[in-house]
Amino acid sequence: MATELETPISRRLASVKNVVIVLSGKGGVGKSSSSVQLALSLLATSPTARVGLLDLDLTGPSLPRMVGLDDPSATVHQSSAGWVPVYVDQGRRLGVMSIGFLLKDRGDSVVWRGPKKDGMIRQFLSEVRWGELDYLVIDTPPGTSDEHISLLTHLHPLFTPTPSRPTTPSAVLITTPQTTALNDTMKSLSFTRKLGLPVIGLVENMAGYACPCCGEISDTFGRGGGEDMAKRNGLGFLGRVPIDTVLVGLLDAASKGEIPAAGISGEVGKEEVPAEK
Ligand code: ADP
Repeated sequence: MATELETPISRRLASVKNVVIVLSGKGGVGKSSSSVQLALSLLATSPTARVGLLDLDLTGPSLPRMVGLDDPSATVHQSSAGWVPVYVDQGRRLGVMSIGFLLKDRGDSVVWRGPKKDGMIRQFLSEVRWGELDYLVIDTPPGTSDEHISLLTHLHPLFTPTPSRPTTPSAVLITTPQTTALNDTMKSLSFTRKLGLPVIGLVENMAGYACPCCGEISDTFGRGGGEDMAKRNGLGFLGRVPIDTVLVGLLDAASKGEIPAAGISGEVGKEEVPAEK
């Protein structure tokens, strides 16, 4: 193992045990929904697990809405030790950071060129005070754009395992079974390989249709393409999620603030700013 190359980002992320980057070749395949489900599943692995969700979709941030934090009162606090993420639960086990929290009006659009996006991503990586985290799940925009190049460039010093950080960042690919999505997922895979980012595996989302009455899964919209792709490319197949109207209903209800994100209890987005260390 090599000795640690210290940067403001590696120092900030020293308290994060695992970094998981969620990628998709195409928009609309359920990448952000999968990032939220992944964060919630990781949270459920242990009653003490702590997870962060970082939204790097700068032009289309959807995580605040998906975790029920779309309320304008859910804002990021600036402390002298950095930005305090917005917590979904009172136990402060799931923290979220998104550009959505920094916009005056949640409906505002961000029209930035590459260098400005790069500066924001650097700030997100170096200035958010996550505290001790078991997992940091990073949701990225679709495709392989400026945001991905910035993210992986900034995280590059963490790509070499060190005694204090034996695990290195890795990626999960989200696709649907359709050929166009699979073709674009191949581009994401090739991108990860070029940049030396290990891929944990692939999730096939919207695979089949789950009947809302009996739960039976039919193949109306196709399934299996993601699993085939994983096999052909030596990737782990992490599983498939059908098109599920219950999931849509839950995400909609969370976005309207009617329920907190599934599996988490506590008052949403009303955390006290913790005392600084
Ligand atoms: P992306 O981040 O890839 O653009 P989203 O996660 O925003 O995609 O999902 C796009 C839409 O599809 C959202 O409205 C979401 O609720 C819905 N969706 C995602 N996964 C599923 C699923 N398995 N079943 C039904 N709807 C889904």
